[in-house]
Amino acid sequence: GNSKSVTVIGLGPMGQAMADVYLKRGYKVTVWNRTSSKADELAARGAVKASSINEALAANELTVISLTDYDVMYPILNPASEHLSGKVLVNLSSDTPEKVRKAAKWLSDRGASLITGGVQVPPSGIGKPDSFTYYSGPKEVFEAHMKDLEVLTGTDYRGEDPGLAMLYYQIQMDIFWTSMLSYLHALAVAGANGISAEQFLPYASATLSSLSTFVEFYTPRLDAGKHPGDVDRLAMGFASIEHVVHTAEDVGIDIALPSAVLDIFKRGMENGHSGDSFTSLIEIFKKSSA
Ligand code: NDP
Repeated sequence: GNSKSVTVIGLGPMGQAMADVYLKRGYKVTVWNRTSSKADELAARGAVKASSINEALAANELTVISLTDYDVMYPILNPASEHLSGKVLVNLSSDTPEKVRKAAKWLSDRGASLITGGVQVPPSGIGKPDSFTYYSGPKEVFEAHMKDLEVLTGTDYRGEDPGLAMLYYQIQMDIFWTSMLSYLHALAVAGANGISAEQFLPYASATLSSLSTFVEFYTPRLDAGKHPGDVDRLAMGFASIEHVVHTAEDVGIDIALPSAVLDIFKRGMENGHSGDSFTSLIEIFKKSSA
């Protein structure tokens, strides 16, 4: 809405940054945190420190939640169950899509709407124009509060399924952690050979940047379920990653990470994909989860 009034529950680094930005934009901000002293500084700058969770919820239709995860929300909101009806809760804590879907059900059983957000920036990015957050949940509810959410970051509404925002968040994290660990592993091998992180930087950056070109090239083939071996072959990739494993081994670097990759290539070969592209490994991943 345009009432410029919001409640913030959870004052970790993220919740602090959010309450801070709302105050700076002239919002009336009501805050609540388990450890109430964390609200003192905000209160000194004009925030209303709610003395109970009921008071925090009663102050506004819109409540932004920023907690460690979704499980933490229940012990906080449960005592205020009868005060949830008609409320809009925007939970910006990270968790799994399934946890979020359960929370949406729990809240709708109590007459409240849940909008989920997957924040893509650290606390320092809150209130900055280039930041963004994935959102999902009931569309009219999201649209009614979009202006208030845009105070925090840009918004990217993904759809009605409450799990979607977190799904987009987690599939990005899937790429992020595996890629960053591969970088750290390569750096360990480089370091064992006397190459510093700084010396490696232009090469590591170039390789990481080139990945999007590969992703773009393979996208239509992946959507079509086609893995022709005209550009690359799994057998070639297998030999390549085998060399990576041995290069690490030769300098006494842990090989758990490239060995896991080698093992996946091997399973693809055993499944008769030697002559197909390495993208055929997606079939291995699909089978594992079935
Ligand atoms: P914190 O883990 O520091 O958040 C802590 C908050 O959760 C505090 O308000 C804390 O209360 C509360 N809390 C934890 N356990 C309980 C409990 N059992 N009962 C009541 N309250 C509890 O995280 P951040 O502030 O850093 O982040 C918040 C969310 O945002 C997380 O889900 C995180 O994944 C996500 N996020 C964070 C980013 C970051 O860079 N920090 C980036 C993107 C997303 P108390 O003060 O009393 O301990």
